[in-house]
Amino acid sequence: MVGKVEHIGIAVSDLQASIQLYTKLLGIAPYKTEEVASENVMTAFFLTGVNKIELLQATNPSSAIASFIEKRGEGIHHIAFHVEDIEAEMQRMKDNGFRLLQEKPKPGADNKLICFVHPKDAGGVLMELCQEKP
Ligand code: ZN
Repeated sequence: MVGKVEHIGIAVSDLQASIQLYTKLLGIAPYKTEEVASENVMTAFFLTGVNKIELLQATNPSSAIASFIEKRGEGIHHIAFHVEDIEAEMQRMKDNGFRLLQEKPKPGADNKLICFVHPKDAGGVLMELCQEKP
């Protein structure tokens, strides 16, 4: 079972411009920016109550964010759910026939272990599982 929505990931083409936009929209500044080299993204995080907004900008053309923006433009990219035990949750999903985009949890931004569920198995939504790194 998943917990709260941990964050909503939004694909952006210009992180600095989007940081300005979301700072105005939300009335708060990001609490961090972080590059995730393994994912070819630069991120910025805003704390909105108990949830977060993650802005993602591609750092090179092979990034999944670059192809997302090319196909669909800027906008909501994924919804991330907090889980206590990501390996157990991945197993539960596999047992229920969901395809996962990773075999093993991988390091994500903001001190998390993450895994994505195939959007074709999740009603067209890219769903991320994330657990606090132990
Ligand atoms: Zn995310």
